[in-house]
Amino acid sequence: MNAASGAQRPAGGSPGEVLALIRDRPATTRADLARLTGLARSTVSQRVDALIEHGLVSETADRESTGGRPPHRLRLRTEDNVVLGVDVGATHCRIALTDIEGTIVEVREDQLLVSKGPEAVLSHVDRRMHEMLTATNKPLTAVKAIGIGVPGPVEFDTGRAVRPPIMRGWDDYPIPEFFTKRYDLDVLVDNDVNVMALGEHRIARPDVRYLLFVKVGTGIGCGIITERQLHRGAQGCAGDIGHIRVPAAHDQPCHCGNRGCLEGIASGEAMARRLSELGHEASSGRDVVELVAAGNMHALQLVRESGRLIGEVIAGAVNLFNPQTIVFGGVLARVSEHLLAGVREVVHQRSLALAARSLEIVPARTAQDAAVLGAGILAIEHYLESHNVNLRLTAT
Ligand SMILES: [Zn+2]
Repeated sequence: MNAASGAQRPAGGSPGEVLALIRDRPATTRADLARLTGLARSTVSQRVDALIEHGLVSETADRESTGGRPPHRLRLRTEDNVVLGVDVGATHCRIALTDIEGTIVEVREDQLLVSKGPEAVLSHVDRRMHEMLTATNKPLTAVKAIGIGVPGPVEFDTGRAVRPPIMRGWDDYPIPEFFTKRYDLDVLVDNDVNVMALGEHRIARPDVRYLLFVKVGTGIGCGIITERQLHRGAQGCAGDIGHIRVPAAHDQPCHCGNRGCLEGIASGEAMARRLSELGHEASSGRDVVELVAAGNMHALQLVRESGRLIGEVIAGAVNLFNPQTIVFGGVLARVSEHLLAGVREVVHQRSLALAARSLEIVPARTAQDAAVLGAGILAIEHYLESHNVNLRLTAT
């Protein structure tokens, strides 16, 4: 590096940083890039030509301009650059093929038990990936990276699940290697609620700086966005609010091995259990949602009560973290008017007035696509990260 040259180069000079300017669109022409980076026109041309050669950028004449020589517009090349976003749930697997701007090209969902184990689930993902590529007429080489969200704690750096309570057979299994052994691409793995938080933030609420994403499904978890970035914590398990103790849970046992956890009393599974004790047919969060939709009063009261219990824990999180927005997703968000009524009631009672004053508590806009979009974005942000782009460009 030529650090002693004394030249003050503005930020944004490397090929990866030039790509970021094109991707985020402050720059759409070579002239824009020269102005924003302070690089010489010839250096800008070198950078742009390399990015075009590597298939990352397209340059087209601007047809809308009239008279004179039309300017050439630069944009991220989306046609043959795609990623796979995978949402592995307790009982389903949803997969989206998205372009590298995060737009869904093709999506598939199947009923599939995560407890069938990693080989069965990941082989299914592999098969679906090939089918989706065929359906969209894209070669395997178009897939640049894979992002996967799984329903359990994940050590992000290695992509391994760590003692996941509901993922039988997955403990310490090297998920990325399943694909990297077969294909030349990177695989990122995170827990489901982190990818949901990322998907909702990037697609629906990119201007929010402090956001909590609470998933209420079979279990209960929370993804944390701080300064627009995912906050994973020291070991990757930040936001595990489902296993905070709540007095109302008494000594109710939980999957995690402890007793008295929020999840053991307020999750979709816990509500289904209580409804079946009352003589209603319910074995999952989905059944609870259907009973509420059918006007079942017990189910409706139980959802509100769960909302209040979750609200107790959320009120503590509001005082600790001071979020702008709390978003609710997961299957129980389908009856969000009842669930959120309970949450709001307690949060506004218990949180500091200052923290609660302009706090929004809302259902997810990305709905059932939050996790696949977020998993795709995890893959995209990794693939397009400036440092990684520079490494790939200098490797060839
Ligand atoms: Zn627990």
